[in-house]
Amino acid sequence: MSLEQRVDILVVGAGFAGLAAVAKILAADPAADVTVIERASDVGGTWRDNTYPGCACDVPTSLYSFSFAPSPEWSHTFARQPELFAYLKSVVERLGLQRRIITDCELRSATWDSSISRWSVQTSKGATSARVLVAATGALSTPKIPDVPGIDAFSGTVFHSATWNHEHDLTGERVAVIGTGASAVQFVPEIVDRAQRLTVFQRTPAWVIPRLDRTIGRLERTLYKRIPAAHRAVRGIIYGYREAYVTVLADNPWMLPAVKVFAKANLKRQVKNPATRAALTPDYAPGCKRLLLSNDWLRTLDRPDVDLVTSGLTSVTENGVVDASGRNHEVDTIIFATGFTPTEPPVSHLLRGSDGRTLAERWGGSPQAHLGTTVAGFPNLFLMYGPNTNLGHSSIVYMLESQANYVVSALAEMKARSAVAVEVDESAQRQHNSWVDSALDGTVWNAGGCSSWYLDANGRNSTMWPTYTFRFRNKTREFDVSNYRIVPDTLESDSPESDHEVVSA
Ligand code: NAP
Repeated sequence: MSLEQRVDILVVGAGFAGLAAVAKILAADPAADVTVIERASDVGGTWRDNTYPGCACDVPTSLYSFSFAPSPEWSHTFARQPELFAYLKSVVERLGLQRRIITDCELRSATWDSSISRWSVQTSKGATSARVLVAATGALSTPKIPDVPGIDAFSGTVFHSATWNHEHDLTGERVAVIGTGASAVQFVPEIVDRAQRLTVFQRTPAWVIPRLDRTIGRLERTLYKRIPAAHRAVRGIIYGYREAYVTVLADNPWMLPAVKVFAKANLKRQVKNPATRAALTPDYAPGCKRLLLSNDWLRTLDRPDVDLVTSGLTSVTENGVVDASGRNHEVDTIIFATGFTPTEPPVSHLLRGSDGRTLAERWGGSPQAHLGTTVAGFPNLFLMYGPNTNLGHSSIVYMLESQANYVVSALAEMKARSAVAVEVDESAQRQHNSWVDSALDGTVWNAGGCSSWYLDANGRNSTMWPTYTFRFRNKTREFDVSNYRIVPDTLESDSPESDHEVVSA
């Protein structure tokens, strides 16, 4: 499919975020002119890209799926990546979205043109002009590989967990894994039997609790198919108990020692070697970094064929990885499980607002948006999974649906007011972010005593939503037009010479 030279609403990205946006926009207005561009050759975002062994969702899937497209077919309470990828493709089919999606089309740049109140967009498939831009490019989509001295000289194989090299057979190899986050805990237990020896480089230990996963039997699936209300009730229960986590993580951190006791008992049960156990015991509050769910990660590290190195790597040699003590660990393959770049999203370098600066320049290392979605100086731009919308306790899909509701409400408001553009007031954005900052104060994500990817280059937490998700849902239910500058359509035509009159709502 080719890209038209002029589109109305352009959504960038066809993962959970982009699909939530396009589905909700079309549900509200089936005649809406929406185009989705996707840089890969298929939809699915993170669930298309992350194919490492053991890749699975760590939020119960009944909740980690669209409310408007429930599936009674999940085989496990925590679905595996192939099922999630298949689910997203099935949603596209079910909602007839294929004809809206242009694959292999990468965003190169988008610049706001105030003279015509439109976005001038460059892509790998040519240029287009869009009235509204929805950036749904994901926060955890660009793998981060540390710039380690000597890496180019390594003679073995190197890859990142998010771009797993399936062509490469790890059987009988000595493998180094760098990083011990949510990805590593899923794939390390899966590859340990294949490798001859595993060396895991742990910079900071993580709190780990069991994953209460179970298969969903045929009878239960039939029940969900026949009585969708039963499935909705299960989703509601999961939503409720997950929200209860906020009571501890954000509102009552004094309760965290109880989680510590539970996690320590889990560690003791799985790791017999006291030295390994000590190395795996974090010195910060549980939840400060993402609480990890696994039933086999800790016991894997207790195996005699697994070495746990309690430092990061300092360099790479031709045949190995050097730890902080200077020891070279000889390996055949290095797998980086070192995460992503959520506080420096690459898309922020591609979007240029009304003053000619990019979003990255405007942010200066600390992403800020109004309700995680709109940014002063960037009219008609909506960010999905924007600043301070990430969660440590529940499903991001719920947040994405809330943001999609907000976009839908904004589009309706623009239509009702014959507005060609809406731009959030700097003061409203500032006010929202001061509230976020003060709400985050004292939560485990800010005060838990760790350094995490939730904190940006300036030390600000520009990642986490600070409280219950229903509060985000309430705030994004209706487009708060009074916080916006409205540019009315005073033109007879789209004459580039004409200026728009700008009024406040
Ligand atoms: P991550 O949580 O950011 O973990 C990265 C790991 O690499 C950390 O252990 C970090 O150590 C380490 N690291 C980073 N730079 C390093 C360096 N230069 N030297 C040595 N170690 C280094 O990344 P991730 O495990 O890929 O997970 C990222 C996020 O993706 C998760 O938090 C989660 O939100 C999401 N995720 C979700 C699921 C799911 O099931 N829904 C599954 C996987 C991932 P430090 O802790 O010391 O920084």
